[in-house]
Formats: sequence, C-alpha cells, structure tokens
Amino acid sequence: MKIQQIFTDAGLRSTKARIAVLNVLTNANSALSHSEILEQMSSQKEFDRVTIYRVLDWLTEHHLIHKISGENRAWKFQLSQSSYSQIEPDSDKKQFLANLHQHAHLHCTSCGKVTCIHELKPQFPKQVLAQYHVESIDINIKGLCSDCNHP
Ligand SMILES: [Zn+2]
Ligand SMILES: [Zn+2]
Repeated sequence: MKIQQIFTDAGLRSTKARIAVLNVLTNANSALSHSEILEQMSSQKEFDRVTIYRVLDWLTEHHLIHKISGENRAWKFQLSQSSYSQIEPDSDKKQFLANLHQHAHLHCTSCGKVTCIHELKPQFPKQVLAQYHVESIDINIKGLCSDCNHP
C-alpha cells in the first residue's frame, strides 16, 4: 500500500518525516525499538533523533502504529494492522480504534523479536465491562520465534 494513502484515509496530514518513519515500520517484519528505527533511518540525515521521537508519538496518538512494552521497559513500535479505510461510515470510530490494540504479542526469548498476533483477542465477561473502563490491554506471550525455533 502506498504510505501516502494511509494518511489520506485517516484524514491526517503527512509530512516527509511521518512518511519516512511509517515506511520503515511498513517494511519491518517485526516491531522495532526507537534505536532500531533510528538505525534504519541513519542514512536520512535530514531527520534528527528528536524529530523521529516526536513522529513516533504522533503516529501512536493517531493509531497508525502501536506501542508494545518490550524488554527493560523499552517500547517497540509496530504498524497497526487495520487502517482507517476499514471504518464503516456509521460505526463507532472510537471503539474501532480501541479494538486495534486488543491483541497479543509474541516476544521471542532468544532474539527479542516481537510479533503481533491479531487472531488472539481477549474475551471480556460482560460483568467486567460493566464495571471497568478498559484503557489498555497488554497480552504478552513468551516463546521462540520461527527463526529461533527452526535455526
Ligand atoms: Zn527469535
Ligand atoms: Zn501489535
């Protein structure tokens, strides 16, 4: 998918830096940390560290990417699977955006790779939802990724 289209669908303003960061995450096959993103963008001298940090926060805030808590409290970033273009015209946009993050993450204990498992979602008992306002969900699965499991 063209990166620009993601911004257009979301009705959000794109900048060169936003497109560049989203491009790195689109091409990655697992979640990336700040330093991994900086490393991949090191050839693009026009974007400094602070700009890239701000862009990551902005993209997270607008649900184009999501944060995953990694080892040693370092965040990792991953592209959101669903896009704004999938929002039905009369559906609850807030609910849709909240659902984007309700999935599990597989953390490889050997190489540290983090992968989204979108098929695994929590099923909340109705009584719980009636009493709690769920703000965020973090389901972490530890194991070996396919590379480490079959070297
Ligand atoms: Zn691994
Ligand atoms: Zn994820």
